[in-house]
Amino acid sequence: MKHAFIFLLMLHATFASAAWQAGVAKADITPTESVPLAGYGGKTRMSQRVEHAIWLKALALKDDSGATSVLVTADLVGLSDKMVAIIAKAALENHGIPRERLILNASHNHSCPVTADVLWLYYEFTPEEAAVKDRYTAMVYSKYEEVIGAAIANLEPAELAFDQGLAGVAVNRRRSRGPESRAFGGQVDQDVPVIAVKTGKGIKGIVFGYSCHTTALGGLSINGDYAGFAQLELEKTFPGSVAMFVQNCGGDANPLPRIRGKDVEATELASMYGKILAEAVRQTISTQMPPLNGPIHAAMGETELMLQPGIPLEELKQRLPNLTGMPKREFEHFIHQYATLGSPPDRVKYPIQVWRIGADFTFIALTGETVVDYSLKFKATYGWNTTWVCGYNNDLTSYVPSLRVRKEGSYEGATGMFEYGHRAPYTEAVEELITAKVEELVKQAK
Ligand SMILES: [Zn+2]
Repeated sequence: MKHAFIFLLMLHATFASAAWQAGVAKADITPTESVPLAGYGGKTRMSQRVEHAIWLKALALKDDSGATSVLVTADLVGLSDKMVAIIAKAALENHGIPRERLILNASHNHSCPVTADVLWLYYEFTPEEAAVKDRYTAMVYSKYEEVIGAAIANLEPAELAFDQGLAGVAVNRRRSRGPESRAFGGQVDQDVPVIAVKTGKGIKGIVFGYSCHTTALGGLSINGDYAGFAQLELEKTFPGSVAMFVQNCGGDANPLPRIRGKDVEATELASMYGKILAEAVRQTISTQMPPLNGPIHAAMGETELMLQPGIPLEELKQRLPNLTGMPKREFEHFIHQYATLGSPPDRVKYPIQVWRIGADFTFIALTGETVVDYSLKFKATYGWNTTWVCGYNNDLTSYVPSLRVRKEGSYEGATGMFEYGHRAPYTEAVEELITAKVEELVKQAK
């Protein structure tokens, strides 16, 4: 009996070390000067102080097929196509990570600096502000390169486990916009999916997700909002670990209630929401989490989301003189598209990634500000406890409504499209197109 037990232990240890090599790393992207803050349109907000540091964090996973996959999370509002191309090119050329094995998620933090051309229609910068933004963007590119390299360099034998907790912070924010929005539903996804990365020395990495805008704050300080507070809390609980936050499908959710005044920040609620989320993760880790075995089968593809017709050129020109600020910049952008492209494009490119991990775990990475229905739908389809659905990967292309939200309209369903530079709302085929592509990629990743 005793011998058999020792043999089993040895077998287990051998199996674990052969299955995964995991490496984590973090890179500080806190600005060293006052920078324009991202996420809210209108008057430029220059940062005045740092509440806590903001980070890029990476998890590299080498499975027993020899392939290495990398997930990078960021306390940023999002990335643009241009940024993704630069980061992915460096990852491929310097570290051999193919595009389908690189997932780039952003927490959608609204208390971070503006980078590159992300949400470019929101802002009108002075030359000095633009120069600050460009300096910061250059630093961010080098930090992506650094953090991916460091995670790969840190690869060591590890075990992975997955489970999910629950936290009641997210509220469907579409219900909070006045009398007509009271008819909207209160759909939310309050699951907190957690991947724990363990080595002989204990918890080395924690990847956790939530479906909720990081908009508890919006003042003049640099911080990671509730997600930043949650990461801080977890790294305190598990010294030496790297805690990574993945924004899931929080397109239509806010942390509520919140306290926000003009240029004033009450961090109590944001910090409390972070602690609640961290507690859900801690409780999940303290249970017997089911092991997550490799390898990772990765698939990536693209669909095109069709747009409704835009405003005719004559009408844009007629209305332009009456506009100021962001609406003026939007109309000028569409007029420019008529002049250079013949008309504003009728579709939006929409990349999707799927990692099938082991026999039955599915990680679905969608693009843009995905609403909660996608998370609920794909978990219902592929398994409530074996599926992780996240938006906010790749380009922060637009809000991505489900058919329900598209039909209801309002900000996430219709009116939010102009500020992303798109000519009109998506057609009602939006959900069908995404669902079909996800199905195809899930099959391909088997
Ligand atoms: Zn948003």
